[in-house]
Amino acid sequence: MRVFKFGGASLKNSQGFHNVASIIKKHSKEPLLVVVSAIDKTTNALERVVALAQAKKNYQSVLQEIRQQHKQIIHELNLEADTINEDLETLIHAIANKAEAEGDYDFIYDQVVSQGEILSSTVLNRFLQINKSSVQWIDARNYIHTDETFREGKVDWTQSQTAIKSLNEILQHKIIITQGFIGGTTQNTTTTLGREGSDFSAAIFATCLKAKSVTIWKDVPGVMSADPKRLKNAVVFDELPYQEAAEMTYYGADVIHPKTIKPLANANIPLWVKNFDDPSLPGTIIHDCKIAKLPPLIVFKDNQCLISCKVTDYSFVNEPQMNTIFEILSQRDVHVNVMQNSAITFSFCVDFREPKISKLIEALSKKFEVYYNTDLTLITVKNYNAATFQEYRILPGIMLEQSSRSTLQVLVRS
Ligand code: ASP
Ligand code: MG
Repeated sequence: MRVFKFGGASLKNSQGFHNVASIIKKHSKEPLLVVVSAIDKTTNALERVVALAQAKKNYQSVLQEIRQQHKQIIHELNLEADTINEDLETLIHAIANKAEAEGDYDFIYDQVVSQGEILSSTVLNRFLQINKSSVQWIDARNYIHTDETFREGKVDWTQSQTAIKSLNEILQHKIIITQGFIGGTTQNTTTTLGREGSDFSAAIFATCLKAKSVTIWKDVPGVMSADPKRLKNAVVFDELPYQEAAEMTYYGADVIHPKTIKPLANANIPLWVKNFDDPSLPGTIIHDCKIAKLPPLIVFKDNQCLISCKVTDYSFVNEPQMNTIFEILSQRDVHVNVMQNSAITFSFCVDFREPKISKLIEALSKKFEVYYNTDLTLITVKNYNAATFQEYRILPGIMLEQSSRSTLQVLVRS
């Protein structure tokens, strides 16, 4: 069996749904499980709904936009005679109720934001059914089991495996349509796996079902040596070793979600990144291979914050002090992207995610003199050559620079 994943960009309009249906049809001779993200920017919009509702502000216009976009697609797909419009209204109504609920913010966030995938998968399922595909919609929350870390659910692999394996029977005669990004706890509470987590969902299903491959359908021709919107001369890789792809995602390449590679590599399941608009393009295969000389790979990670902790008593930065810093980071679940120390300061760079980072700075300020800068971009040049090494070291506005034998990193003002 195979697993396909379609992201929000592939489902942004009715044309996208037609395209998804035609790709699925072409591959329907073999058992297939399809994972979908929410339509277009629905997840961002749902995040705004939660934020507004929880601040007791008016969120109706944002919710209406979501409703309108889904209605438009349903209309263009000629699904109106179906009960799907009623389903849409019920779901929109439920979103409003959940968003206004009282309680833990992250819990409420998951209950609301997860609905984007429920909506998109429901529409796709109905569209495929009406077009005579033999499909079955399943609720991923009953199969991907997580703990109660809301917004970042940790997968319980044993439980998930048992549940997911039971899908084999359905797969013998039906294509399964399910949601990315969402999971459920043993108490049947909805969780999410972290933003852009649908790729990871596809990897979980594939691993538990021992799939032949996973294909992520995207709006790029494959995995590229840099973001083509930023660098015109970016090239497409035909193939990449798992390790290389995993490291790219670590440095911030957003072509694949960082958690996707590990389970697939462990199970030796190849991951294809294919172009959604032109499936005839070869795409990139990420698998167990060796490549003698990879070209430089350049990753831009925006919205970085550089934090410097200065010791206040004229002593030097020592290990116990670093220990204190790391304790605070780890308690707050903040990931460090790059770090550097000098005699009296320890500096590190993190994703500027609020309110998390302000609270982190507050906690650090109790022990150190803290300085910070935001609006920075971390540029990583992996497998650099002489030309790229020179080019990126002389960029204006460098705040921090670091290089190893294979990797150069510079943190610059955006
Ligand atoms: N819809 C979710 C998000 O936008 C998950 C995903 O797209 O992978 O974060
Ligand atoms: Mg997305």
